[in-house]
Amino acid sequence: MSEKIILIVEDEKPISDILKFNLEKEGFKTMQAFDGEQGLNLALNNEFDLILLDVMLPKMDGFNVLKEIRVHKQTPIIMVTAREDEIDKVLGLELGADDYITKPYSVRELLARIKANLRRSSSENSAEKAVENSNILKIGRLIINSERYEVTKDDQLIDLTRREFELLRFLAEQPEKIFSREALLKQVWDFEYVGDVRTVDVTVRRLREKIEDNSSEPTYIVTKRGLGYYFSNSK
Ligand code: CA
Repeated sequence: MSEKIILIVEDEKPISDILKFNLEKEGFKTMQAFDGEQGLNLALNNEFDLILLDVMLPKMDGFNVLKEIRVHKQTPIIMVTAREDEIDKVLGLELGADDYITKPYSVRELLARIKANLRRSSSENSAEKAVENSNILKIGRLIINSERYEVTKDDQLIDLTRREFELLRFLAEQPEKIFSREALLKQVWDFEYVGDVRTVDVTVRRLREKIEDNSSEPTYIVTKRGLGYYFSNSK
């Protein structure tokens, strides 16, 4: 297996250097960027396996860097938010971040997140390469195409983030089965430790806005109060 390379976009040099040291100790290669513009340039002109992206950055903030990267690339991105700020987390996920971590975090926690995100993206890559015929799910007016990572409704392409796609596919493959938010976090996000279940709610809400006729009366992804979510087959 080739060495994974991680881009660290962090303006505080001591923090960046600690990250670099710890990541390299784990066998990763790293590159460092110390402001948003430099981070964006490096991200667009190189192939990274993952990007750690601080929100508060000089020249260009992390959200704008994230938005620009997502126009061109699907590199896994973990946003680093400075404080326990709900807005930052939600905004980051809505703009297409794969995950976020809040400062101060432990190196162990960060490494666990990085590894979970890398595992997921490499299994996706090999899944994409595998040629299978059963990769297209049709449910009502929705078509979920796992070969192309595309979802259409009434033949209109729906623009989903990778996580929204995965959540939809996961639920749709097991219709009518109720999953708790914790179970979804574990299975779709691959968090084996305690994550924030509100991440699931945010992603469900975004997904509903994109696929439902009326997101306040969902017919695809349905809430089972007190239990979780399920994909409804009764169209
Ligand atoms: Ca910063």
